Amino acid sequence: MSYLDLIYRLYLTCVTLSGTISPMMDEPGSTRHAVDTNRQRLLRILREHGPMHRAELARRAGLSRTTVSTAMEVLISEGLVTNLDGRGMTGEERPVGRPGRLLGIQPGTGSAIGVAFSYHEVRVILSDLAQGPLIELVTPLPQEQAPGDDLDIAANMIQQAIESSGISPEGVLGVGLGVPGPLDCTRGMAGSSSEKTWSGSMPADELAHRVGFPTLLDNTARLSLLAEARWGAGAGKKDVVFVKLSSGVGGGFLVDGRLLRGDLGAGGEIGHVVVEPGGQLCRCGGRGCLEAYASVPAVIAQLRPLLGPDIGLSEALLALAKGNPSVTRLFSDVGQLVGRAVANAVNLFNPQLVVIGGELAEAGPTLLQSIEQATKRESLPLLSAALSVRQAALGPRSAALGGIALVLREEDRLVRPGPRRSSKPVRRLYHNSVSHVTATK
Ligand SMILES: [Zn+2]
Repeated sequence: MSYLDLIYRLYLTCVTLSGTISPMMDEPGSTRHAVDTNRQRLLRILREHGPMHRAELARRAGLSRTTVSTAMEVLISEGLVTNLDGRGMTGEERPVGRPGRLLGIQPGTGSAIGVAFSYHEVRVILSDLAQGPLIELVTPLPQEQAPGDDLDIAANMIQQAIESSGISPEGVLGVGLGVPGPLDCTRGMAGSSSEKTWSGSMPADELAHRVGFPTLLDNTARLSLLAEARWGAGAGKKDVVFVKLSSGVGGGFLVDGRLLRGDLGAGGEIGHVVVEPGGQLCRCGGRGCLEAYASVPAVIAQLRPLLGPDIGLSEALLALAKGNPSVTRLFSDVGQLVGRAVANAVNLFNPQLVVIGGELAEAGPTLLQSIEQATKRESLPLLSAALSVRQAALGPRSAALGGIALVLREEDRLVRPGPRRSSKPVRRLYHNSVSHVTATK
């Protein structure tokens, strides 16, 4: 089969999964329909969870081993799946047993793109479905720039990533887009955020029309959770609470492997849990919210009288590393408040792991130990006995990697965008830094 045939088959698989075009689908209920559905399900499992044996595939798909073997023979003959024989795996990951029985997605047969905005930059990661990340681009964003201009920059970075990697645009499964702050995920609409407002915009629709790929939206805290639970500090865990201590304070909840979103898709806003009744004013209009104490700006504001008016987080972390007693006390106090909010989440959701991310998590043990201590003190002993609190492992890349994880997890929500609503050409802009990164799988 030629490479073009292979890409075309993958495209047919993608659009079939999206539910918008279904040239390969037969009538629901027919044998052919069932066979196609089985193959799609098996491909999705391999994309989302990585290489595995037939027995594990059968278990995850709820299919018999015979059905899996038959489907795999077809997918291998079509060039979409390959026998891996432990290639590219470390000694610990390499399975014991006969070679050639581990199955994975054929490298070069598809890709996904993660895009994540913070308040000061946008990051794009392009990942091969089998090999992991191929290209990563980061561009600083001017303050006070309109969201539409930010999306133009992201669209150009996606184009740049595709050109640099040499992948075929037809093989791009979709884009997972993250923006900071609360979101109405049911309508794809951004809520207010602390420094730059995406409020009322429809970022996924707008990016999809710029780049022509199906685009899914979530907030950056939840995307970071997805990435940490797939490749980072929570790898393999099904019940995880993620707290992002950044320009704002965000949260994400993985409950029995499912991402908790709620009615509007706006759930998980742990930053607005009240930790000091009647306390500091919060940008949400409330008082005593966690965000009013544990965001980076809140911490810096408290340290300025001690360390100077021009300090930033790096100066604060340096003072902490040098053992400045006032700075140490402040980070410890912040940890107690974070732990108070996390303890409520522990009592409600019984997670096995709490992951602390965002720039403030770089404070390390002083903050983490204080969070763990307060969490365990203020939650039920039954629930906290086996609980651990860990620092996030993926750093500033986590939200963009989470965009890729979102595409892989929620492939059935991908819908190809219609034609661009505006004929305005996308401005050609150049990224600030390019780094070719190694696979994280
Ligand atoms: Zn608030």
